[in-house]
Amino acid sequence: MRKDITSSVWGALGLVNLSFCCYSAYSYQNFDVAVYCRAQEVRQMAEPNWLEPRWNEISRQVKVGKVYLETHRDTVLVDEETINKARKFFESKGVKVAGGITYTISESNRFETFCYTNPQHRKKVKEIAEYTARLFDEVILDDFFFTNCKCELCIKAKGDKSWTQFRLKLMEEAARELVIKPAKAVNPKVKMVIKYPNWYEHFQGLGYNLEAEPKLFDGLYTGTETRDPVRSQQHLQQYQSYLIFRYLENVKPGGNGGGWVDTGGSLYMDRYAEQLWLTLFAKAPEITLFDFRQMLRPTRQSGRAAWQGTQTSFDFDEMLKPIQLEDGTTVKPSTIARAAGYTFEKVDRFLGKLANPVGVKSYKPYHSTGEDFLHNYLGMCGIAMDIVPEFPADANIIFLTESAKFDKQIVDKIKGQLMKGKTVVITSGLLKALQGKGIEDIVELEYTDKKAVITDFMVGWGGIRQSESQIVIPQIKYLTNDSWEEVSCLASGIGYPIFHSADYANSKLYVLTIPDNFGDLYNFPAEVLTRIKEVLMRDIYVRVESPSQVALFVYDNDTFIVESFLPNSVDVRIVTDKRISKLRDVLSDEVLTGETLSGQWRWGRGAGVEKIVFDTQIKPHSYRLFQCE
Ligand SMILES: [Zn+2]
Repeated sequence: MRKDITSSVWGALGLVNLSFCCYSAYSYQNFDVAVYCRAQEVRQMAEPNWLEPRWNEISRQVKVGKVYLETHRDTVLVDEETINKARKFFESKGVKVAGGITYTISESNRFETFCYTNPQHRKKVKEIAEYTARLFDEVILDDFFFTNCKCELCIKAKGDKSWTQFRLKLMEEAARELVIKPAKAVNPKVKMVIKYPNWYEHFQGLGYNLEAEPKLFDGLYTGTETRDPVRSQQHLQQYQSYLIFRYLENVKPGGNGGGWVDTGGSLYMDRYAEQLWLTLFAKAPEITLFDFRQMLRPTRQSGRAAWQGTQTSFDFDEMLKPIQLEDGTTVKPSTIARAAGYTFEKVDRFLGKLANPVGVKSYKPYHSTGEDFLHNYLGMCGIAMDIVPEFPADANIIFLTESAKFDKQIVDKIKGQLMKGKTVVITSGLLKALQGKGIEDIVELEYTDKKAVITDFMVGWGGIRQSESQIVIPQIKYLTNDSWEEVSCLASGIGYPIFHSADYANSKLYVLTIPDNFGDLYNFPAEVLTRIKEVLMRDIYVRVESPSQVALFVYDNDTFIVESFLPNSVDVRIVTDKRISKLRDVLSDEVLTGETLSGQWRWGRGAGVEKIVFDTQIKPHSYRLFQCE
């Protein structure tokens, strides 16, 4: 049961005392926690002397209400007797049990998947689905329900189609005929869930069909692990742990069952915790910890980051404090499971205060790609994002990246918004893609093949602001007095548009120049980001003026979270609509009183627009939750 916790109950729970009862007496108020068990571990679970101590180790550090028992991975198929013994064990503890399938041949061989044209492989896929559905009423497919096979059979079957076209069709058919139909035939009440990984820009190329499959499956699930943004192969930005959950929720409203995080790639322990709480900030009803084995990884002092000891959101030392169980015994935290448990206890105290997340609508057509993962960089710059798979014609402001080019009617749709007096912001990447394809009917801009190396920016008629390092941008040319530089950059006496506007019908089209390296968005001076936010977030009651890597999570009940991913404390200015006069920091109870800024409040812009500002600070890798008063 989920319910809001009143502040008086918070006091009773104690903000410092982290003792907790066993899960049967107390589970989290606002979400459920599951642990995924790979086939390699499940097959050992028939042996109580193996399972019991390990389960005790995990479950006394984090409250687990559910386990997924995997039947297959890497050709390891767990026998029925073992599954039944494991199931009995968990059910005797009051833990819910569901099934899992990983359709891999060999993960270690670059995630070798099944071949869905090979008759023998197809037979095996079907058998595994039937076997698992017979044992469980809920079955989740882990990350690997795609194909990277390029065997001779697949090459022949592909014919003249692209690999993307071929695989999308192939996997849709496999989902229907080899997984769902056979599973439902043996167990009509089985709930089949497809989990999508974190590489959402590239799903289509490997046959992960985000358009067809969510309609076929009973539910979907979201990989929200982002790991280290720099020292990893994927380079996913932290904000994605939030945004991908929202995106997939928009793909199947009400059908996104949860977020899923593993322990990999967290060079400091806060990074692991961030992924968990960002998943929950996105309102995931369940969070799956991958996996049983990883939960037993010993806690290492090397995970204690440089900013520890300054009361940041993830307090490493507090996390390691002994915990008292319901029976009075005291347990010393030993493994990473405690980092999860500690994080969940902290955020569970306030998650009930968050209503529906809101953000700037950005349309990403199904099976599209282009300026891959860019939305997350903007999220890291403090722009609350919301990716949707259908064109959001009702939105007053729409943001479009290059991926929107996959909609052949996109120019007409942009025109339609501008005719209705609504605002559209496109990236330079989309401008390039639509050049010669109708965008010039709105405004004649030229995305050239020339580059500029810049450090200096000019916002309106204001002073010069500098980035800390050089940034390479594409040069966009425009016609004097036909369109206007809102933000310019300067190099050797010449300027180029960074944020550009053009009148059309009853509104404006804006073009945001994206640096060649998206990471250089983080080097944009705060004043530049502010001007972009003033346009993109005009309809949202709050925004934050700050350097990049400070994110904002906004909810439709006058509640919002400001989170910094910076290694040092940062000054932020929170700017709200004028109806808001005070902000209450829900975690500290501190009340901030705002100041009114009105009239000619910045470089001649904003005349007549009254805003309230609150100046405060955010600690390293920390969040603050505010309620407007
Ligand atoms: Zn093949």
